[in-house]
Amino acid sequence: MAKQKLPSQGIGFYTALLVALLLISGCTPETPAAQSDEPVRLTLLHTNDNHGRFWPNQYGEYGMAARKTLIDRIRAEVEADGGYTLLLSGGDVNTGVPESDMQDAEPDFRGMSRMGYDAMAVGNHEFDNPLEVIRKQQTWSSFDFLSANIYDGSGERLFKPYRIFNKGGVRIAVVGLITESTRFIGNPEYVEGLEFVLPEKEMATLLPELKRQAEVVIALTHMGHEMQSIGTDVALAKAVDGIDLIVGGHSQQPVCTDSEGALLADYQPGAPCKPDFENGTWIMQAHEWGKYVGRADLVIEKDSVQLVDYQLIPVNLKTGRDEHAEMVQASIPPDAELQAFLQDFQDKGGEALRQVITRAEATFDRRDKRRPSNVSPLGSLITQAFRQFSRADIAITNSGGIRDNLYEGDVTVKSLMQVMPFANTVGYVDLNGEELQQYFEAIGLSGGNQRGVQFSGMSFTTDGDIVVGDENQPLDPAKIYRLATNSFLAAGGDGYPSLLDKPTYVNSGVVDFTTVQQLLAGKESISPAQF
Ligand SMILES: [Zn+2]
Repeated sequence: MAKQKLPSQGIGFYTALLVALLLISGCTPETPAAQSDEPVRLTLLHTNDNHGRFWPNQYGEYGMAARKTLIDRIRAEVEADGGYTLLLSGGDVNTGVPESDMQDAEPDFRGMSRMGYDAMAVGNHEFDNPLEVIRKQQTWSSFDFLSANIYDGSGERLFKPYRIFNKGGVRIAVVGLITESTRFIGNPEYVEGLEFVLPEKEMATLLPELKRQAEVVIALTHMGHEMQSIGTDVALAKAVDGIDLIVGGHSQQPVCTDSEGALLADYQPGAPCKPDFENGTWIMQAHEWGKYVGRADLVIEKDSVQLVDYQLIPVNLKTGRDEHAEMVQASIPPDAELQAFLQDFQDKGGEALRQVITRAEATFDRRDKRRPSNVSPLGSLITQAFRQFSRADIAITNSGGIRDNLYEGDVTVKSLMQVMPFANTVGYVDLNGEELQQYFEAIGLSGGNQRGVQFSGMSFTTDGDIVVGDENQPLDPAKIYRLATNSFLAAGGDGYPSLLDKPTYVNSGVVDFTTVQQLLAGKESISPAQF
C-alpha cells in the first residue's frame, strides 16, 4: 500500500474512512488480497510417506517428538524474523509399522495435528483402509486431507480439492493430487467405484480457478517424482504452466539435483540439496518416514516467487548402524509433551504385539525357491493357515504380499504383521473344477508356476496338470472346490480375476496374519521343513 501523508486537519475523518475500508475488505474474502509492496517471507516445511513411523527406530533415528522440536524451533526463528510458515505432508501416512497399523495410525494423525500440520495430500496407502477408517482419521486430524482428482461414483470429489492460505496478505493455494495408479495399487475393495483422474488433466482444469483466488500455487502431491512418463511430479510440471512449487511423495526419495539439474542417486544426509526445477516449477520431496524435514525459504513479491534457500534437515539420522555411529547433525531432543502422548500408543501397541506364539527353529526365507513348485515354506505356511481357517481345499496368495522373512527365534504377532503388513482379510469362494481351471490359467498357474504364486492344497504332475489334495486327484470339472485367498487378490489386485461377483464369495473379515496366529497356536516350535 502506498504511504500517503495525512493532512494535519481532518485526521479523524481519514481514520474513520480507513477503518471503514478495512472492514469492507474484511467482509469480502474473494477480493484481491491487500498485498503490500513489501516482500513476504514464507518458510515451507514438508515431509511425506510417514508410513506409521510416529516412533523413532531402534537407533533413535527420526520420530515425531524430535520432529516437533525441530519444527517449533524453525517456526520461532521465522516468526521472530517477521516471516510465515506452512507445514505440509505429501501423504501415505498409513501402513508399515504394526504399532501404528493396529491402531489405524491414530498416533500418527494425532501427532501430526500436535505438530501443527496445515494440510496433507491423500496417498495411495490411505486406501489400505476402507473409507470409514479414513473418515475417522480425518476426525483425529486438525488439518485438511486434500485431493482434487478422486471422484466417487456420482461424480463428486471424495476430498476437499484445495485450500487457500493467507500469509501476510499473500494468498497461497495448496491443491492435493494423488497418483492415478491408485486404482490398481490401492486395495481393490476400497477403491472400487472411485475414479482417479490423471493429475495433469485435473490440474489444467483447476488452475484458472486457483489463479483467480491466489498469488501462489502449490501442488501437494502423492504421485512420485518421475516413476513413469505421465502422472508424476515431473510430468505435471512439464504439462501445466504456472505451478510455483510441487511438494511431493510416493517415490520415497530425497529430490536433490547436481549442478546440471540431474537427480542425485545417492544423496547423503546432511549434504546440501538443490530441489529439481522443471518448466519454472520447483519440485521437492523429503525421502520418507520423517527422516528429514524439507525446508524451503521463499520470498514472495508481486509477480514472483523466489526460492532463496532449501535444506533437507536430517532428524537424528546416524552415520551408520554400529555402536560408533554418530548423529549426522547435532542431536535434536524429543518434545517432552508429544513424546509422553505418543508413549501411551507405543506401549499399547507393543504389549499386544510382543506376545510370543511359537518358536521358529530356523528362518523362513520368503524368497526360498528351492522347491520345484516355486512355493516357499513361508508361502506354504500362510496358505495352509488360510485353508485351515476357511476349511478350503486350496489356498493361494501372492509373493508380493509377503513382505518379510519369518526369522529364527520367537514368533510374535509383531513378526507375523511384518510378514503381512497390509492387514488384508481372508476370503473364500466355492467353484467347480472347470471354473477353478480357468481361474488358474488366468493367473499363470497352468503347466507350472512361473509367476511364483504361493499356494497349498494342490500340486503339479510332471506334465504340468493340476492335482488337488493329498490323494493327488486331478481337478474334476463338475466337483465343487473351496478356494481361499486374501481380500486384495479376491478383489482383482495384481491383475488377478476378481472373485467378488461370484455368488459364493465370502469375505471373512478376519485379518490374514490372525489366521496364521491361529494355525501356530499351541505349537511349541516350527521349522521350514514342516511346511
Ligand atoms: Zn505411495
